Amino acid sequence: MLLSFFKQPKLSTQCFIYIFLLLSGGIFGCNENRHPNTIYSHNMKESDDVKFEIVKSDSEWKQQLTLQQYHVAREKGTEPPFSGKYWNNKESGTYACVCCGNELFDSITKFDSGTGWPSFNDVLTNDNIIALEDTSHGMIRTEIICKKCGAHLGHLFNDGPPPTGQRYCINSASLNFIKKNDH
Ligand SMILES: [Zn+2]
Repeated sequence: MLLSFFKQPKLSTQCFIYIFLLLSGGIFGCNENRHPNTIYSHNMKESDDVKFEIVKSDSEWKQQLTLQQYHVAREKGTEPPFSGKYWNNKESGTYACVCCGNELFDSITKFDSGTGWPSFNDVLTNDNIIALEDTSHGMIRTEIICKKCGAHLGHLFNDGPPPTGQRYCINSASLNFIKKNDH
């Protein structure tokens, strides 16, 4: 009787911790992937025959871009966190594709995600991007590419802030910032 009295709270605590871990995994997990309805119609697999408006050879891209921009945008690379030029940029303006100038994000949707990469909770328009299923590195993620030229931009997660709940995790190297006054 005395034993069960002491055992009971311990069991409850274990249950509580287990439930908390389950819940927190669902809330904070970064690899969980649900395609948002807003871009679902744009989703396609890598193997689909995607035709881009702007097509250049590798040597042409290399001439136009820096080594890092080429690696990230054309070879699906990822810049180290807190290293890019825009992760902490708080100026007003528009973020365009570094390869083709396609306008992708408005600074009004940029937020501090703490990840070290520029993060947005929405795109300027769904017509300018394509979402692809990315199964590399043993994860199922949504890759975001430029609809005009196919540049790799980053990934989309569903743990962003309201009102969309989306987090577009984008490489600075894939972006070119245009200050509002420069328009
Ligand atoms: Zn582009």
